[in-house]
Amino acid sequence: MRRDIVSRINKMLVMTFYGFQSLMQLKMYGDDSDKVSFKKYVVDMMNDCESLANVMDKKSGEPKTARRLRFLAHAFLDSMQRSQFSPEENNQVATIFEGMEANVKFRDAARNLFWELQDLGRSQELKVNAATAKEAKLRAYFEHITEWVTLLDIAVALVLAFFFVGKTVRQLNVLKENTRRLGSDIHLLERLGTRDEIGELDGVFHDMVNDLNTMRAKEKQMTALLEEGKERLELVIRNVPAALIVVDQDGRVESLNPSAEVLFEYTSAACTGRPLERFFLKNNRLEGDFVNKLLRESADRPLTLEAVSSQQEAIPVEVTATTFEGPDGTRVLATVMDVTERYKLEQLKRDFYSMVSHDIRTPLTTISGILQLSRLGKYGPVSPDLGGRLVTAEDNTHRLLDMVGRLLDLDKLDQGAVDVSREDVPVSFILDETAKSVLRQKEEKDINLEFTPTPLVVNADKHYLVQVLTNLVANAIKYSPRGGSVKVWAHRVSLPKGNFVEISVGDEGPGIPPEMKAVIFERFKQVDDRRDKKTGFGLGLTICKQIVDLHGGEIGVQSQPGQGSVFWFRVQSA
Ligand code: ADP
Repeated sequence: MRRDIVSRINKMLVMTFYGFQSLMQLKMYGDDSDKVSFKKYVVDMMNDCESLANVMDKKSGEPKTARRLRFLAHAFLDSMQRSQFSPEENNQVATIFEGMEANVKFRDAARNLFWELQDLGRSQELKVNAATAKEAKLRAYFEHITEWVTLLDIAVALVLAFFFVGKTVRQLNVLKENTRRLGSDIHLLERLGTRDEIGELDGVFHDMVNDLNTMRAKEKQMTALLEEGKERLELVIRNVPAALIVVDQDGRVESLNPSAEVLFEYTSAACTGRPLERFFLKNNRLEGDFVNKLLRESADRPLTLEAVSSQQEAIPVEVTATTFEGPDGTRVLATVMDVTERYKLEQLKRDFYSMVSHDIRTPLTTISGILQLSRLGKYGPVSPDLGGRLVTAEDNTHRLLDMVGRLLDLDKLDQGAVDVSREDVPVSFILDETAKSVLRQKEEKDINLEFTPTPLVVNADKHYLVQVLTNLVANAIKYSPRGGSVKVWAHRVSLPKGNFVEISVGDEGPGIPPEMKAVIFERFKQVDDRRDKKTGFGLGLTICKQIVDLHGGEIGVQSQPGQGSVFWFRVQSA
């Protein structure tokens, strides 16, 4: 601040001289630019004085000096105005004396201002010097103190560092030891429990190790489970009755399970690397790309092939193939089932049916014809007693022929060896044909048989449908009391899979117990063995069901024991 005041005073001193100089210039030359610069000088002088006075007043706390400065500066400029050196041209003083007097006043005012500024300058200079000396002393003092404080700081820092480093080193050693223990799978040291960063790090380390231990325990469990699963799987594979062959991507055998070794009479080692197709007799469907074709062909149902054993023996087998991902790529698993026993059974069945067909049906037909001719007296007179017996024999022969016929029908249906030729058939045709075939039975039992006329048309094989309805109506008559009534009607039903026609046969017979409703459609199933054995074989409904199934339809019964039955079946509407 003092230095600022001193520089302002210096500036004002310079300004005072500059004032004289610019005044002289104005007086000597008096052009316009001089006037302008002089006016500027006056304004600058007043501003400088004002700012110096302000500093003296507000900052330095010397209002008196400030007032005096303002007064002297005004007096200086004022007396300049009034002197012969006035810059204003029309401000000429009246007389020479007056002029001289005004000039003296101007000179005094200038001198007063100059001295004042000089004194003020000196006194401020002195203060500045005094302050500088004090400052230097203070600085030296503080420097001294700073030195001590620095020393103290260093000492404190050293002590703290000693403690801190010591503690830190101890904690770091704990961390190091824990890391070693983790590596050697030993229990960690106790948690540090401090709240600093190392303590936190130690906490995180402990948590991590806990997680790691939990994971390890789980991994152990999983590994044990996997091992167990693997062992079980191996056990299953070893003991599974099917022969399993693992084949690589090139269609070459990788391994066989024991069942396969037994079936093919090879050891697993002897087969490794052989193409899979070498284990089977040539099959046209699979030629070319055996494994891929096998995969495709056996996707829906097992493929029947003939395997070849090491002894060149042909074995009937069923083969399915699936792919699976092994540890080193895709593999194919071929499951080979030995169906020799089933083949034998089927062969037996075939032999039985051909025996039934040729060795039973043909002689039975002959017997039936001879009986009929005998009854009609073609071989001599027939007594009434013999006639009666011949009728019974004829009936029994017909029953046997009927059974044989049904057995052969069922076999054909089982083998799918039947041709279903579907066409649009009016239901009325089915009803009429049925009525004709059951006429004799109906009359024998005096049954009131009612067919409700219908305009509905079905899409089905008419001969098979007549066979189904005839069977149902014949059963209804058979199980109805003498003189009872049997009704047949048809109506349309809408099912999610399409429009169907339902044909129903209602009777007044003994009905079907609830537990037998589903069973009676199975072969040889009868509700009452003692009652039904005399009149049937339990094959009729089985044949009906097979035929209706072939048509994509349904068959069923509604019945309450003692309240008659309603047998129904549905086939597609035309
Ligand atoms: P079956 O030759 O014995 O009649 P089905 O297969 O036609 O053979 O019938 C199986 C069994 O269903 C019959 O034995 C009988 O017990 C029962 N059954 C069939 N239809 C009727 C019916 N309308 N009323 C009562 N029982 C019936």
